[in-house]
Amino acid sequence: MIRAAPQVAEMAPYALADLAAPKGKRLTSLSQNESVRKPSPYVSDAIASAAMHPQLYPDPNWTELREVIAEVHDLDPNLIVCGNGSLDLIAALAHAYLNVAGAAMVPAHAYPFFRTATQMTAARIDAVAETDLYVDVDAMLAAARADTRIVFLANPGNPTGTRLPRSEVLRLRAGLRDDVILVLDEAYGEFADHLKEPMFDLVELGNTLVLRTFSKAYGLAGLRIGWGYVPPKILAEMRKVMNPNNVALPGQLAAIAAMKDQDYMRETCAITTRIRDLFATRLKELRLDVPVSHTNFVLMRFATLAQCSAVDAALNSEGIFLRPQGGAGLPDCLRATVGQEQDMDMAARVIELAISKECSA
Ligand SMILES: *Cc1c(COP(=O)(O)O)cnc(C)c1O
Repeated sequence: MIRAAPQVAEMAPYALADLAAPKGKRLTSLSQNESVRKPSPYVSDAIASAAMHPQLYPDPNWTELREVIAEVHDLDPNLIVCGNGSLDLIAALAHAYLNVAGAAMVPAHAYPFFRTATQMTAARIDAVAETDLYVDVDAMLAAARADTRIVFLANPGNPTGTRLPRSEVLRLRAGLRDDVILVLDEAYGEFADHLKEPMFDLVELGNTLVLRTFSKAYGLAGLRIGWGYVPPKILAEMRKVMNPNNVALPGQLAAIAAMKDQDYMRETCAITTRIRDLFATRLKELRLDVPVSHTNFVLMRFATLAQCSAVDAALNSEGIFLRPQGGAGLPDCLRATVGQEQDMDMAARVIELAISKECSA
C-alpha cells in the first residue's frame, strides 16, 4: 500500500479560500489580503522584459533584487534571502530546524501556515493563548519548553491585525533561550513602517530573523516573492533545503521594479489604511468588536457564533466573501480584506442588515 509519511497523512488539507458567487452575482473577494491596488506601473514593463529569455533559468542568488532591497532598507545584501512567497521561507525554516524531537511555538490565533510548516516536519506545535486578540509575551515565555526550537510570530498578526510594539518583541526575545529561533513575520510590516520601529537590527543577535513579502503592500501576490533578513548561519541552512531556482524571472524583475518605486507603495498603504479605518469605524458603530488593525484587513468579532454565521451567509448570498476564522481559533470572527471603497460600503451594509435581522429573529 502507498502511504504518505505519517506526519503528512495526519495533516488536514490546507484550508484555501472558497470563492463561488451565486448565479448572477458579481464575485467580491475580500478574503485573501490581496492589495486593493494594482502594483506600480513600472511592474508591467518589468514582466514584459522577462518574456525575452524564458529559456534561461532565473538568477538563483536574486542578486539585483537583494541589492535593491538592501539599498531601500539600509541592510546588508548578503543577509537577504528571497523566497517563492514568504511561505517558501517559512517552510525552509521548518525543514531546516524542526523534526520530531522539537517543537515550534505560536500564538493561539497565528497564521495557519506556521502550523502546516511545523506539521510537515513531525515537530509538535504549541499554541499559546492570546489576551484580547493581542499576543501575550508573558504567556509565550511561560509556555516555552526545553524542546522549543522556533517561535513564529507574525507582527502585525494575521488574522488579528494587532501588533506588538518593539519593546514587547525585545522582551520576548530576551526571555527566550538563545538557541530558540525567533521568526518575525512582517508580511504587513509596510503598513506599520510609519511607526518607525524597524526590527532588522535584531538579526545581529544571530537567532532572530525578519520576513517580508511583495504580496501585500507591493501588490504582487500573483508573482510569489518574499524575502527575509536572516543571520548568516541560519541563511546557509535554509538554502540547503530550498529549491535552488525558487523565484521565476518575472517575479524577480517585478519585485525589483516595485521595490524601486517606494512612493507608489507608500501611496498604496495610505489609500488602504484610509479605507480600512472608515470601514472599521462603521463596524464599531454596529457594536462589533474590532481590534486596531496595522494591516490591509479588518477582523470583526460577533456577539455570537450564530450571528457570525448569519452575517457570513448573508454576505455570500450577495457574492461577497470575507474569511471565516475558525481555523485560527476564532469561529466567531470574520476577516475582511480592504477592497475598493464601494465594495467595503456594500459589505458594511450587508453586515448591518444581517445583524438587524438576526437580532429580531
Ligand atoms: C500573506 C502572508 C504571508 C505570505 O505570503 P506570501 O504570499 O507567501 O509572501 C506570510 N505571513 C503572513 C502572516 C501573511 O499574512
